[in-house]
Formats: sequence, structure tokens, C-alpha cells
Amino acid sequence: MHIERFVERNRDSLDIRRHLARNALEGQICPDTADALRGILADIEAAVDEAGNLRVEIAGESVSTRADYERTELARDIVLAEDGIEALIGHICDEDPSISVQSQLVAERLAGRQFEVCFTDRDGTVNGYSNRYVTSIQPAHVALSLTRFAAAVCNHFVVLTAGPLADPGILDLSVMPSSQVVYAASKGREVVFPDGSEKAEFLGPDQRNALRELALAIEKLYGSNRFASFRYVGSGLQSKFGECSVAYQDWQSNCPPELSLAFRAEIEAQIRRIDPDGRTFHVEDGGRDLEISTLDASATAYDKGTGLLFVAEHAGINLKGRSVLVCGDTISDVPMVRRVVEAGARLEVVFVTTDPALQAQLRDVAPQTLFVDRYEALVLGMYLAVTEETHEYMVV
Ligand SMILES: [Mg+2]
Repeated sequence: MHIERFVERNRDSLDIRRHLARNALEGQICPDTADALRGILADIEAAVDEAGNLRVEIAGESVSTRADYERTELARDIVLAEDGIEALIGHICDEDPSISVQSQLVAERLAGRQFEVCFTDRDGTVNGYSNRYVTSIQPAHVALSLTRFAAAVCNHFVVLTAGPLADPGILDLSVMPSSQVVYAASKGREVVFPDGSEKAEFLGPDQRNALRELALAIEKLYGSNRFASFRYVGSGLQSKFGECSVAYQDWQSNCPPELSLAFRAEIEAQIRRIDPDGRTFHVEDGGRDLEISTLDASATAYDKGTGLLFVAEHAGINLKGRSVLVCGDTISDVPMVRRVVEAGARLEVVFVTTDPALQAQLRDVAPQTLFVDRYEALVLGMYLAVTEETHEYMVV
């Protein structure tokens, strides 16, 4: 299977999943969408070998990678379409019993609460990790749970992501109805509100030009046979507002280490060429991606905490004394928690992490933080928190 075909088949699922989510929100099953999703899954499975590796063709070469996210989530949405949400919850809890226990903890923490606003990160927090951003389409079951939660108990529901807004960005991957959600992309520097209006931070011409030049240099690297496959590794190149990120490894480490390091070195060389004095770019190595952000006049890099305040200001959200829920999964999400504490909000925090260092950091800022191991526990917990029925398969 050619990589472009793989991307296209996943994109085919977007409108099908939007249709499915709408029906599921009304409590209806949707057998026609089950068939359509089954067709997409069958096409992908045909390119998967016995060990579960996906063989794809990139620049004339056969490359082995994993498509666990895409396959798992398609299979789950097929259950949702055919048998409904209750059956799917049973299916997910059967996969890993800890999800059942932890989602119950989340539900207990959130049940009966009303939030002025929920700020949540996307990838790893309310969505699984894919090896490729372009195929990390939001599953319909996730859209259903988040929409139920947002509509029932949140005045504002904000997805605040480091990823870009579009082309491709969060708007191209989202399945939940846009009327229920504020999309804050590029760490909150570009925002789309539920009524469709948009707002973006200021960005100077020098910063714009430097980012454009860097993007062109990376495109040139993708054009070489040696580095062609990196276009489809992780987030690939993401040109965002005021910054960009370039992946040199995916989260399951499918790229040969030597090649991965060689690609990273080439990018670093381009950064030094464009910004020899280090006055324009701030570079952070996330272990799989280089995040290159432009510095503002005070030479500080933008973080999600700054983005959160930008969103709050333009959405007319007053944080002081109000109930605010913050959800995240990495260190880049901690500034959101800090800003909400500083603003004097009544804070609730759920983090998806098993990292002891990150947990310790959060306990310093917000001792009440609830930790879960997997994103499913958070999403399912949100659904259960606003759903009346008792769930006899839940182990408490
Ligand atoms: Mg994340």
C-alpha cells in the first residue's frame, strides 16, 4: 500500500465518523457507517503482516511501520456503530481492566460538578497517540464522550494543542461538532470559537520570514531520497502560528536510529544557517520532535499557559473564583495548570501520565491532581460522570 493511499483511506473515515458521532449523540446505532468503516479497516489490514507491521511504499521503497492507533480506533468505532456506546465501553474495559477502575475514579471526581471552562490538551490526553499526525483522526466514540461532557457540565470546552489549526491541523482531524468546542492551536496562538470566529496573536514579519525559510529547507530535505520517509514520521513538519515542529522519530521508534539522528542534525544545521545568532528561534528537543518557536520581543518562548490566558481573554472567560478543569499528559501542559492556579480559580486537574517526575511536579502545583495511565480512562470517565445509568461491568 502506498503511504498516500493509507493517508487517504484514513481521511475517508472523517465524514463517516462525523455522521456516526451525530447519530450516537442521539442514541442511535448506525449499521451503514459500520460497513463503511469495516471497508477502510479491511484495506489497511491487507497491508499488515503477521507481526502486526504495516508495509507502506514511500519514494519507491518499502517501509515498515505500525498502524496500531488507526486499526484499534477503527475497530472501536465499528463496535459503536453496530452495537452502541454501552457495548463499546464493555469492549474497551475488556481490553484493559485498569481502564474500568480508573475511569470510575475520574467519573467520581467529576460527577455533579459544573465547570466554567475545561482546558484540555489533545494528543495523549483525550486522544490516543498515532505514529502519524495526519492519520490521527478523532475516533467517533471520543467525539461522543467529549461532546456529552462539554454540553452537560462545561460553559466553555477548550482543546488547547501544540499542533496547528489546519492544513493539516486539528480542524482536519476533529469529529466532534464544532459548536461545542473552542479550538486553540499552536499552543493557543490561533483560536477558532464555536461561532466560527477566529483570533490570532501578533507575529512580526521577521519571525514569519524565518519560519517560512526553515519550512522550505525542510521540504527540500523531504525531497531527497534519504529523508523522504520523514514526511510521514510522527507529526512530520507542522507549520504552526509562530512556530513549527519537525519529527525525527515516531513514538514507537520505527525509524532506524542512525538515520533519525542524521535527519535531526540536518535540521539543526538549517536552523543555525537561518538564525546564526540564536535571536529568532527557541529550539526544544522533545525526544522525537524538534519544536522551533519564534522568540517575542522579550526573548521568551510562548507556552500553553500564555495561550490559555489569550483564549480566556478573547472568549470572555473569567477564571477567578470559578471552577476550572485542566487535563494534560506532558510537561508542556503544566503551564496551563500554573496559570489557572495564579488566576485564583477553583482548580480540578486530571493528568494522563505514569511518569514519576511529572507527577511530582504537578503535586507541587496542584496537590489534588488525579492521575490515570491511559487516555481512555479520562475520556470514558468524562462520559460516565454525566451519564446516569449504572454500569454493572464497572469494578469499583
Ligand atoms: Mg499531549
